[in-house]
Amino acid sequence: MIINRVDKSTCIFSYDNIKECTTHVFIIKKKNRVYVIDTFCGTESMKPVIEEIKDKEVFVINTHFHWDHVWGNSAFKKDLIISHERCRKILDKAWESQIEENKEYILGNVEKCLPTLTFNNKINFHEDGIVLFHSPGHTEDSISIFDSETKTLYVGDNLEKPIIYVENGDIASYINTLKTYMEYDAERIFAGHTLNLTKKDILDTINYLEALKRGDKIEFNTDYERKIHEDNLKMVSEGEI
Ligand SMILES: [Zn+2]
Repeated sequence: MIINRVDKSTCIFSYDNIKECTTHVFIIKKKNRVYVIDTFCGTESMKPVIEEIKDKEVFVINTHFHWDHVWGNSAFKKDLIISHERCRKILDKAWESQIEENKEYILGNVEKCLPTLTFNNKINFHEDGIVLFHSPGHTEDSISIFDSETKTLYVGDNLEKPIIYVENGDIASYINTLKTYMEYDAERIFAGHTLNLTKKDILDTINYLEALKRGDKIEFNTDYERKIHEDNLKMVSEGEI
């Protein structure tokens, strides 16, 4: 695990425990509290994060329901855990099956721990200049976070390089979310598995999704990208039924 202190308030924890898939947890320190974006794979993985927080109030954010973003929730049982309304619902149903399918990645303790504050459209934390908003794309429950003080946009798994995972057939909503990102005055864009994205990456992803929707033939350089693209194609065709 690597800790990268980007500026006075922003800190990135990067984990390499999952094969070929670096995963990032972010913390944003504000005057009266600390926001923790995603909780990776269990209590053990959250120890360095908790050490960095010290005694401040903590608001945990789950960007979406996938196991590699929520299993550390039980390290924050006393704190507020915020997500989209649908994230809580899906997690409630899928908690056990996600454990069953990926248990080799558990780090420490993983108890079922659902979000305690949910929203539908957006939620503003005015004194901290932070907004959380629904951004369906990678999954239907995905949310994003914008910190207006540092002009940093956190997009969960909606952007990823070299290729995104489409796990929801609603491509029109995905494209709409990416167009919304373009309206934010973001100077930094961070995703759950990729750092330092740019507005060009957003535009490239919109183009990819439009090509996917049209069924264009797309060439890739690696087997990994071809495999994910095949899965994405399947998801799109299922979404159209
Ligand atoms: Zn995901």
